[in-house]
Amino acid sequence: MRTLFSPEQLQNPDTREVEQILRKCVHCGFCNATCPTFLLKGDELDGPRGRIYLLKDMLENESRPDKEVVLHIDRCLSCLSCMTTCPSGVDYMHLIDHGRAYIDKHHKRNIADKLLRQILAFVLPIPDRFRWLMKIAALAQPLAKFLPASISTGIKLAQESNVELKQTSFKSIYKSEIQSLGCVGLLPGCAQQVVANEINLASIRLLNRIGFDVQVLSESECCGAIEHHLGKGSQSIDRVKANLSNWSDKLPGMEAVISNASGCGTMMKDYAHLLKDDNEFSTLAKQLSDKTKDISEFLNQLEPKFEYKVLSEEYTVAYQNPCSMQHGQKISDQPTQLLNQFGFNTTLIPDSHLCCGSAGTYNILQPDMAKQLGQKKANTIESVLPELIASGNLGCILQLRQYTKIPVLHTVQLLDWASGGPKPATLVNLNAED
Ligand code: SF4
Ligand code: SF4
Repeated sequence: MRTLFSPEQLQNPDTREVEQILRKCVHCGFCNATCPTFLLKGDELDGPRGRIYLLKDMLENESRPDKEVVLHIDRCLSCLSCMTTCPSGVDYMHLIDHGRAYIDKHHKRNIADKLLRQILAFVLPIPDRFRWLMKIAALAQPLAKFLPASISTGIKLAQESNVELKQTSFKSIYKSEIQSLGCVGLLPGCAQQVVANEINLASIRLLNRIGFDVQVLSESECCGAIEHHLGKGSQSIDRVKANLSNWSDKLPGMEAVISNASGCGTMMKDYAHLLKDDNEFSTLAKQLSDKTKDISEFLNQLEPKFEYKVLSEEYTVAYQNPCSMQHGQKISDQPTQLLNQFGFNTTLIPDSHLCCGSAGTYNILQPDMAKQLGQKKANTIESVLPELIASGNLGCILQLRQYTKIPVLHTVQLLDWASGGPKPATLVNLNAED
């Protein structure tokens, strides 16, 4: 694609990056075929190719984005399905990141939208604030149908989770009792430790059982993804740097930094890119990105392969691969291979490349689109008749729970259970209701 940036504009490293990305696009439109919002709306401007043109025009002309442009950019899930499809290697992820940051600076949102975004950026990254908001949301449940869709969606998400008012406390280190294959760090996730800490506890038991000591990085800030995707780049970078400062002395002793939320993992793997020009942090950021592994990726690469088959019953599991996992981190078969090694039957989901509509804060900010995508995803999963659904990202788990009665769990909860851990509470509660 021909670009028209001036030499002055190209002095800016961000603009240079945008230009290099744009130049790779040959406007073939292959990406539209796998874009969930294009498939829903059928509008060129709600597909990646159309958005690329909108971004090009906005950034080249340094124009103030109007409502129409912002609408189509806001509707993008950042699911990155288009990147997997693109034959030319267009780095859409970093292009839209620049576009969102530009819109945040130059577009005046209406008061309600602005306020909602500020609340999300203020509350979600801080577990104590998020804990209280979720508790209030649970209490407001009887009022949900009278409230705007974005707020009622938040209330429904609170219902699907297991909020603890107590602050989560972790031991400084969880030692393996059988052997020591080394020490790994675990990011507990700012939202996850509040609404689904059982995923962290299952991860720790599983890693300990295999032989790894686990150091929970509980002093972490949010990984930065929430603010990053809201276009609040400088706030996000401050969090990234705070994390790197906190972890710098621990990193050398860790085999890997484990993420059990693929949204956070994708962000941490991108620290190296985000800070590539930072004199102080670039080396540390690269080390952290290189060491970051999704838990399924980490377990799958270990040799010899583990085989645990302690469950007497057989279960058929549909694995919903989160977009941040399959498109962001290019992790495809590892989670299902692990489920098979641990004794589960797995079944394929049609259109598994399409997003479930969770996408970070998307289901709050774009509730109508998210609902359509969530229902569509639940229908395709139910069509293959699984007994259980597994996923590797909390957002997808909470989103799917709204649209199906089939139990939805994190992959590690199933792996932990199948290798001697407790039965996940979701399944215990289900049996109690029978
Ligand atoms: S598939 Fe790639 S090259 Fe083709 S229009 Fe989409 S982004 Fe551009
Ligand atoms: S990131 Fe997802 S929603 Fe956005 S343009 Fe690409 S495929 Fe479409």
